[in-house]
Amino acid sequence: MNIGFNLNYFTGSVLYNEPLKNHLTIGVGGPARVLLLPKCTQDITKTIVLCNENSIPCTVIGNGTNVIAPSDGFDGVVIKIANEISEYSFLDEKRIHVEAGMSLPKLIKVLLKNDCTGYSFLTGIPGTIGGCTAMNAGTVYGCIASLLSMVEYYDGKSITQINGSQIDEYFSYRSSLFLKNKYVVTSVILELQKGDIEEEKQKNQKYLQKRKFSQPLYTKNAGCFWKNTNNQSTGALIEQLGLKGKKNGDAKISERHGNFIVNTRNATFEEIIQLAESVEAEVFNQTGIILEREIQLISINDKSI
Ligand SMILES: Cc1cc2nc3c(=O)[nH]c(=O)nc-3n(C[C@H](O)[C@H](O)[C@H](O)COP(=O)(O)OP(=O)(O)OC[C@H]3O[C@@H](n4cnc5c(N)ncnc54)[C@H](O)[C@@H]3O)c2cc1C
Repeated sequence: MNIGFNLNYFTGSVLYNEPLKNHLTIGVGGPARVLLLPKCTQDITKTIVLCNENSIPCTVIGNGTNVIAPSDGFDGVVIKIANEISEYSFLDEKRIHVEAGMSLPKLIKVLLKNDCTGYSFLTGIPGTIGGCTAMNAGTVYGCIASLLSMVEYYDGKSITQINGSQIDEYFSYRSSLFLKNKYVVTSVILELQKGDIEEEKQKNQKYLQKRKFSQPLYTKNAGCFWKNTNNQSTGALIEQLGLKGKKNGDAKISERHGNFIVNTRNATFEEIIQLAESVEAEVFNQTGIILEREIQLISINDKSI
């Protein structure tokens, strides 16, 4: 199969006509024309330049934990930045430089081993550092932006770093300028604390336990489908309206958490979107609240990187 340009510079793996459902935790999505697993930053930047020169749609994913893709897939190039491009190094005892493909759960293990504290609110979020930065992942206790002292990204032309007070301008609730502008996060520096490590371990355990009870962890899902509105929990709202357990084919609102749509078997993209639309309509009709989706769509109609 022809991608449209020569990949002889590419050092990672190339998968043609690759089902996206194999790379998204919700297990839904048709084939990507090409799915690339880069091994170095140059694999990413050169691919983006060539895609742009050849007018080939291009997008990135990390661990695919907050993404859904349509049944007809993505007729373009999907760059999956996960597992590889995941080096880290401590700059001093509190600051760690981490590449975008490192998964957050793995990073947390490294931080615990090195007696760092101050990040337990992120425990259990299954994304990559790149994905979590783009999404400004977090919980009611905090979000990743509060720990970042540098973000390096590629905007399709050059690699840039932002530091210090610039950082705040790039982030909002479950979003960032990286996400909105399709900039690719390549690495970050996290600034941590040196507090009570035993207390941090206990907090981590507590948050993990809480997730086990409150989230459908052992199902196919993509985390929260919607953002919270005005600090009000959308999961609780959906529960109050009696919508937990609502089904459409193999797509279902989790009985455990009203903000999770679960693929119970072989749900299609259409089943999930119809279910989401019916929940959105019911929430609006009963409360006047317009739900905003947190989940990201891989779409050929989107702006390319
Ligand atoms: C069981 C479960 C629990 C979850 N709990 C939470 C939670 O508590 N809090 C929370 O915030 N989220 C949660 N999530 C959602 C998800 O883990 C986060 O949104 C995470 O930030 C997504 O990271 P990812 O690497 O999987 O990104 P993906 O889902 O692959 O991508 C998400 C978006 O980020 C973009 N992106 C990915 N990598 C990059 C990059 N390197 N540079 C620029 N853009 C990039 C993609 O294009 C896409 O638009 C949960 C998900 C699951 C499945």
